[in-house]
Order: sequence, then structure tokens, then C-alpha cells
Amino acid sequence: MPVSGLPEISIPRRLRAPAPGWTTTADVIVVGSGIAGLTTALRLRRRVDRMLLVTKTVLDEGSTAWAQGGIAAVMSPEDSPAEHIHDTLVAGVGLCDVDAVEALVTEGPDAVWDLIALGADFDRGDTGQISLTREGGHHRDRILHAGGDATGREISRALIAALDRVRDDPGIEVIEHALVVDLLTDESERVCGVTLHVIGEGQVDGVGAAHARAVVLATGGLGQIYSSTTNPSVATGDGMAAALRAGAVLADLEFVQFHPTVLWLGEGSRGQQPLISEAVRGEGAFLVDEAGDRFMRGQHPLADLAPRDVVARAIIARMRETGTDHVYLDCRHLGADFLEQRFPSIVQRCRELGFDPATQLLPVAPAQHYASGGVRTDLRGRSSLEGLYACGETSCTGVHGANRLASNSLLEGLVFARRIADDLTARLGAGELPETTPVAPSGEPELIRGKRRLDVQRAMTAGSGTVRSASSLAATEETLAALAARAVGADADKQGGPKSWETTNLLHLGRALTYAAALRDETRGGHVREDFPARDDEHFLHHVHLQRSAAGVLEARVVPVPGANLEGLDLDGSVPVDVLDEDRAEGIAATKPAARHTDSADETKETM
Ligand SMILES: Cc1cc2nc3c(=O)[nH]c(=O)nc-3n(C[C@H](O)[C@H](O)[C@H](O)COP(=O)(O)OP(=O)(O)OC[C@H]3O[C@@H](n4cnc5c(N)ncnc54)[C@H](O)[C@@H]3O)c2cc1C
Repeated sequence: MPVSGLPEISIPRRLRAPAPGWTTTADVIVVGSGIAGLTTALRLRRRVDRMLLVTKTVLDEGSTAWAQGGIAAVMSPEDSPAEHIHDTLVAGVGLCDVDAVEALVTEGPDAVWDLIALGADFDRGDTGQISLTREGGHHRDRILHAGGDATGREISRALIAALDRVRDDPGIEVIEHALVVDLLTDESERVCGVTLHVIGEGQVDGVGAAHARAVVLATGGLGQIYSSTTNPSVATGDGMAAALRAGAVLADLEFVQFHPTVLWLGEGSRGQQPLISEAVRGEGAFLVDEAGDRFMRGQHPLADLAPRDVVARAIIARMRETGTDHVYLDCRHLGADFLEQRFPSIVQRCRELGFDPATQLLPVAPAQHYASGGVRTDLRGRSSLEGLYACGETSCTGVHGANRLASNSLLEGLVFARRIADDLTARLGAGELPETTPVAPSGEPELIRGKRRLDVQRAMTAGSGTVRSASSLAATEETLAALAARAVGADADKQGGPKSWETTNLLHLGRALTYAAALRDETRGGHVREDFPARDDEHFLHHVHLQRSAAGVLEARVVPVPGANLEGLDLDGSVPVDVLDEDRAEGIAATKPAARHTDSADETKETM
């Protein structure tokens, strides 16, 4: 049911687009070429007859290639899976799904070793051992990094190189510049393909339809919904929005992570902004205000390395107290040599923009960074719609809860891609998800013009951003509703095209996110609810699930979190404590930190 007191929100079944002019078929369609999509496709490739991988622009465009800090995994004998689980649960403020976290942490090291075997070259120390560092919220050194601060670029390179090695195989087809618009469903509402727009040549050009037995959405995040984000321009939430329109359950959408230290480039700077990785604080940099006060001291036992929400909130509070729009990161004591060697990309980017971290304070402020929610999936990556899977930032596996622990997202994409590939292999092999025929979607298509994007971003930033209240959320919804009214009638976009499809996706997700945020009367995760400043575990330990009804109206369901998730958990995160019941703890203790040699990389290059 729509919730009383909140406005009714209509979501159309599909976006306006030309009728498909061509058709292709595959067993599985993977949408997106970040760590989630590429890992799924590479693992599935030899197990199904025909794999189709489509991506909106070029293969290495997406958040994965921008990841700086690294990928978290228990690789050191001094670390343990139980400690990684603990740190993840604390960051998630009681809303993580413990089973999903356990899968992430216990399968993570193996998945990372497979990535290394595939060719990913992580930084190593003098004796050849993998270098591990620490980031906010982690109590152990467990972050692998590459090229200093170019981890994502290296992972993306290695995965694309692996794809290139098999690209001529008849069983895999890759289409770049292919934007998925909507999901196709059969008469039992099973997902059985996508409509997509390809800037191609010959037969495959313009809008077409790709039919398949299953679809895996790995389209990344929704950062472009806000005026200022660390996410690249492709992060327009397309997969989440298409899933919402098709009737899939989306969860935890209100939990947006705002990274505390994004280089502040002045008022009015919009779009993708340069991130100053948490790893810089991990190596000893610290935050100061205008007067030079180290304001994170005394705020949290981990001070500058507290979880991201704690740091972002402390920055916002200090900015308000001092009437400024940024604070500063002091890295000067780390020295030019160390900074250049450890963070070459960050130092270069800062210098290009006129800031030298070795000699100057860096102005920083929080900006949108990560979507903790998304398409709700189970432990196998299955969504609530038969035939539809979601992976990586598009999904909500339950791993992140209300807030993501640093460097857990690359790992999530890696681990759950393997799970999805394994589940699909078994199901398709067993004859499940047989070929089926899509039916024409019901209802009128809608589309707003691409030029409305700034209006969506401004409304979301003003009312559904870091600081929210019932009235700010209501004002945002009012603006978004007025924009949605322009999706039909004279003001509507009648043609369709990438900019208007993306902008309408941002609008649909913006309305859903604002709706979910209005249902959560408390401060938890990455945002501050001004009118409910305290966390309230008694009343708000729940997830908000959103779904489009058959009648086209957004419906919300409040799903309680099992109490066990909180038992024994020190949510203020001062020291690791034993949070797991005995059986689970024993099982996890048996999972030793992985120790593998990498000499046999060539042998295992194809094992993803
Ligand atoms: C600046 C930055 C730094 C980060 N640092 C870290 C870090 O150190 N450690 C960490 O763990 N995480 C980090 N993250 C988060 C992490 O990078 C992402 O969560 C993760 O890479 C997401 O991977 P993905 O495969 O789900 O999505 P992405 O890598 O974003 O890939 C999405 C893919 O989907 C494609 N796509 C989108 N829409 C469509 C469509 N309609 N049709 C077809 N294709 C489409 C895109 O083009 C892209 O190929 C960082 C993120 C950013 C932005």
C-alpha cells in the first residue's frame, strides 16, 4: 500500500523509446562492464552457450576504474574473518544482513586470489608480499591496493585484458555504446531480455531488443542524482530504475554514502568531483578546520579514521559552526616523496587543479559517493523478479546495511558475481529459466527532457542529501512531482535519447529515494535527519522495501531486521568484540586467511 501521509507516486512501466528495430538472443545478458559485470561475464562465458555483455559507453567507463583506496580482504595472518565481519557490521549501523556479510568476508580472499591469478597486479613490499593498508572503520590492515592509488584502474585493466583474450570466442559477444533502456518480461512477469539503444553499425544500430533466459544488471550507482558526486557520468542509476519500473523490489535506497573528503573546487562546481581517498587519512593525514583545530579528536575512538558517516557528519557540523562550506585535509607532514609514491594519481590531480598536498592544506567537503541500497537480492544475486539478477553497486545484497565499510564494494562485486555465475550455471544447466517470449508492456511510456537533469540534481541535493528533514524531503518530492508531470503531454520528450532516458531514470530513482527517506524518521547511515537527530534502534531497525505495484504506484514495505544482527555489537565501534553466535563463529574461525602463491598465475588465468 502507498503510505498514508506521503504523496502517491506513479511510476510508468517503461520509458518512451522507438520500437525495437532489431533483435538478438543470448542465454544470459550481462549489463555493465565494471568489476561486477566483467567478473560475471568472464565466469559464465564457458558455462553457457551464448553470453552477451553490453555496456553504455566503453568497457572501462564506470566507477570501478575510478576506485582509489583498494579492495578489502582478510589476507594477513594477523587479521581474521570475524574481525572483518565485525567492522562491516559496525559501519552498517545494525542494518547489514549477517549472512551476506559472512559470504563476502569468507569468500573474499579466494576471489581476490583469483583476480591476482587473472593478472591484477597489486602493490607489494620489498620481499614480494602484498602490501596491506587500513582505511576508515577497519581495525586491521586489509586493503590491497595497486599503482598506489590506482586500484580500480588496475582491476579494470586486468579484467578487460582477460575479456580481450576470449573476445573472439563464438560463445561471447560484447557490445559497447549500448544503453539498456528497459527490461522485457513475459506474461508471467519473468524477465527475459532488455530493450537497448546501440550506437553501432549495420544491423545492430538504434533501438533493439535482446532476448535471454536471464538478465544480470551490473550498471553501477546513481551518483549523478546529486549536483556533486565522485561518480562518473555513466552513474545514472539506469539498472535500478529499469528494475523498479519492471516491478522488482528495491531496498535501502535512502542510504546514500557521502564521502567526507572530496576536493572542494568552489561554489557552483558540479558533476564528478575529485576524491581524496580515505587511504590518505589511513597513512596519517588529518582533518582541521579554518582555525587549525583537529576536530575529529574526541569525536570517535578512531578519530580521523572513524566510519565515513561519522566523519562526514562531523565535517558538516563543523562547517555549520564555522559558517564555511569546507574544512581542510592536512597531508603536509607526509612529505612530497611519500605522497608522490603512494598516491601518484591524487597528487597529480590536485596539482593540476592548483593544490599541492605536500605544501598546502587541501579544501575538502562531503559529496555523494556510494549507493548502499539498490535492487534487493538474495545470497545468489537473484532479485524478486524471476530471471533478473543484480550485482555490484546496482544491487542491495544486504552487505552494506545503512553504510558501506570502505573498500568493501569492489569486493562485493567480485564475490557476488561469482555467486551469480554459479547459480546461473546450475539453473540453466538444469533446464530452469527456459526460453520464453516477451509481451508488450502495459501502460503509456513517459519521458522528461534531458535538459531537466539539473533540476532533478538541485532538488535532490537541497532536500534529500546529507542533511534532511520531513519538510526538506516534502519540498524535494514536490519539485520532482512537478518534473514528472512534464513526462507526458506537450512538455514531454517525444523522441527518446540517452540524455532523456538517463534523466528520467534519475527522476524515478530520486522520487523513490525521497519516499524511502521520508519513511525513516531518524539519523542513521550517511545522512543527518535534522528533525530526528538520534539513532533509534527500538523503532527504526528496519529496511524500507519499495516496489511498483501492478497499478503503477510506488508501494513501501517496512521489513524488520532480525534482532540478532545487533546483539553484542558495539555500534560505536571502539573495539572489535565477539558479535557472532557460537556456531557461526566456529565456522568462520575455520576459514583461515588465504595464503596462496601467485607463481602459478598463468595456469589459473582462465579460472574466474
Ligand atoms: C572515485 C571513486 C573511488 C572509489 N574507491 C573505491 C575503493 O577504493 N574501494 C572500493 O571498494 N570501492 C570504491 N569505490 C566504489 C566502487 O568503485 C564501486 O562501487 C564499484 O566499482 C561498482 O562496480 P560495478 O561493477 O557495480 O559498477 P561500475 O564499475 O560503475 O560499472 C557500471 C557499468 O554499467 C554500465 N552501465 C550503466 N548504465 C548502463 C546502461 N543503461 N546500459 C548499459 N550499461 C550501463 C557503465 O557504463 C559501467 O560499465 C569508489 C568509487 C568512486 C566513484
